[in-house]
Amino acid sequence: MTSPAPGASSTTADLPDYAPIPRSALGPALNDQGYYVGRVERNLYWVTDGVYNSAFLATRDGVVLFDAPPSIGNNLRRAVDQIAAAEGVSNTVTHLVYSHHHADHGAASSLFTGDVVRIGHEETRRLLLRDDDPARPVPEVTFTDHYTLDVGGERAELAWHGPNHTPDNIYIHFPGHDTLMFIDVVNAGWVPIYNLNLSEDVIGYMGAPAIALSYPWTRLISGHLGRLATRDDVAVHQQYIADIEASAREALAAVDPVPFYVAGGENAWAGVKAHLDAVTNRAAAPVIAKYTGVLAAADIEAFTTTTTFQIMQSLRLDRGPSGPVHP
Ligand SMILES: [Zn+2]
Repeated sequence: MTSPAPGASSTTADLPDYAPIPRSALGPALNDQGYYVGRVERNLYWVTDGVYNSAFLATRDGVVLFDAPPSIGNNLRRAVDQIAAAEGVSNTVTHLVYSHHHADHGAASSLFTGDVVRIGHEETRRLLLRDDDPARPVPEVTFTDHYTLDVGGERAELAWHGPNHTPDNIYIHFPGHDTLMFIDVVNAGWVPIYNLNLSEDVIGYMGAPAIALSYPWTRLISGHLGRLATRDDVAVHQQYIADIEASAREALAAVDPVPFYVAGGENAWAGVKAHLDAVTNRAAAPVIAKYTGVLAAADIEAFTTTTTFQIMQSLRLDRGPSGPVHP
């Protein structure tokens, strides 16, 4: 066998020979400092490092920043300065909106000091107080359901429509810019990573794209990866998730658990593992095959397999039935 020993360090040379990334999944080239800043529409801009996205409004009264991923970090300041100089507007960041509490989208917040008004959902504030991370100062302006942010004649509508990726993940609509920002549910052109993109509420995550599509917009700032998303991207993502759900339903019905539990004997958990693994693998295999070459990284099987496991468990535990009723 040529596989490395367990615990052997992994290098790029060890990566499997994955399917090529569809060119359509990739975004614009980065500059020498490792970022790209582009106009979304009028004075709404987006910034990417190729994996994470952030956005800002450059208004006559200052800059409103939407998320501050640490991977973009100080390049956010450079991007704002670059655009403010080109457009002849202030480069002062006056407001910072958190899409949700996660550090990977917000931990460059503390780079922006001074009179910055931080805004987020009330649950974002609660979670950030819990997490107590100096890199993510808590928002002092919070809201429960809706908040209209008006700065320099520009408007962003913030809304909470229930838990999805996290309990606090909000929809940020720019009605004057034909754009929605909604993070960590749809990855533009790519599969979600492990466990529905590391999401906490399966039913909420599965329903969120329809809520996103209920807003009028042409461009979506989705948080990942290096390009903006379209309504078609959301539709492909919805189909991917719907295919997993249908396949998980079929596999739950088709795989008889009894032989696994019999084989497990007194080790009940051994039987459970064998049964659930069989259901998961049966459900995930056709989805991995269908989306390889369609969504980037669909052939990284653990992503679709773990997402399938989560959805299959939600079908049992949230939707029911969890199993047959004892006669
Ligand atoms: Zn997140």
